[in-house]
Amino acid sequence: MLRRSTSVLCLVACAAVLWGIWRLTESTLDQPPTPELQFWPFRRMQPAPPRRPPSQQQQGQQPGQQPAGPSQKPAAATPAGQALPAEKAPLIRVGLFGDGQRSVALEVSGPFVIKATGSDKVLLSKEGLGPTAVTATPAGLKLGKQALAATQVEIFPTRSPAVWIEGHQYRGTVRLYRQEGNTVAAVNVLPLEEYTASVVDGEMPAAFPDEARKAQAIVARTYALYQKQVAERGSIADLFASTRSQKYLGYQYREGGKLLAGESESSRKIAAATRGQVCHYQGKIFCTYYCAVCGGSTVRGTEVFSDAAPPLVSVKCDFCREARLYRWTAEVSKAELQKELDPWFREKGRKLGTLKTVSLSRPTPGSALPEFDIRADGPSLRISGAELRQLLSGRGLYSPQFTIADKGRTFQINGRGHGHGVGLCQWGARGQALEGRTCQQILSYYYPGSTVALREKVVSRK
Ligand SMILES: [Zn+2]
Repeated sequence: MLRRSTSVLCLVACAAVLWGIWRLTESTLDQPPTPELQFWPFRRMQPAPPRRPPSQQQQGQQPGQQPAGPSQKPAAATPAGQALPAEKAPLIRVGLFGDGQRSVALEVSGPFVIKATGSDKVLLSKEGLGPTAVTATPAGLKLGKQALAATQVEIFPTRSPAVWIEGHQYRGTVRLYRQEGNTVAAVNVLPLEEYTASVVDGEMPAAFPDEARKAQAIVARTYALYQKQVAERGSIADLFASTRSQKYLGYQYREGGKLLAGESESSRKIAAATRGQVCHYQGKIFCTYYCAVCGGSTVRGTEVFSDAAPPLVSVKCDFCREARLYRWTAEVSKAELQKELDPWFREKGRKLGTLKTVSLSRPTPGSALPEFDIRADGPSLRISGAELRQLLSGRGLYSPQFTIADKGRTFQINGRGHGHGVGLCQWGARGQALEGRTCQQILSYYYPGSTVALREKVVSRK
């Protein structure tokens, strides 16, 4: 009897244990985001990622909005868990156009609220917004016909990306400002890593090797952080979306009737692989200027920029020799040059007279940019290659590095490279990566003396 009771008790106990294990495995299966089975207490569940405000939440693409670019991949959702915790991911404020506009085209794909910037007061809450013009009024801003009683507002979508400005859809939030002259400025505010992922595709073709694109991600991230650090107090943006700063197209955009990706799975992987990494010199980040093609050697930073850090020296680089603009030629008639130079001379309190010759007064050994002597009827006047390039903008002068040959009625301009020539050469980075160099080797080549480190380990510049 005793033996039978023991057997029954054993059976009940075993059933209870089995049921307990089944319950445990069942409950862990319900728990996102860890996909594998968890057996308490041997391994604890990973803590859920910290909740972030709607402005920073990464969400999948809206249905029916597949980018259709021929060379660009559709922008898929960023995998969950890639985002940095809010306190570790600084926000970057990107000015979406240089100056304010009379009217800004706004669209929001999904629910959103609009608050006065810096306030919790909701001015407007909607389930979505079709194409609407934002304009300035004496009292504030206007969305179509709806007035908002604030001169600075922020659009918080429930899911991001959702906000469209002038045909570009952006992650994060968008701030709208009424500016002088009744114009409207738009600023996209988003986490640094999401910004970096888009700039990688904006600045460098997806066909370039990964190590070159990783170098691009690191310099883009460093450049943005530097601009954030030096942004003037009271400024509404840290940098601009155009090549005035770095080319940033957002999440996706419409162009020529097509929907194109502003970032891709590839660019997100490149940003993630270098997450948080920045260039620094002696423990401080610096302005990592870079150019498209240096054309044989990079230009010493101090030749072009007042804030050039010590790593921005001139280095030899023919790794960019496969670039179309490694060498280029342009032609300008003497009459055209005369027309452009006349006002420049007048500004200097001089009169040009009839243009006779333009000769190189300072050749370009090493890093120095060229200068030219302009001779007309009177005494000659010196002009830098950079100034001359600016005067002749739109006439195919791709860099300030060139010589000029007198061909009778025209001047032949023989140049090298594309862009200002300072810092990392993007086509050179491609060439080096194809020869097997790593992104770290590429960066220490173009910024000698600098090191790559995690942002948190580098002290603030200030
Ligand atoms: Zn180069």
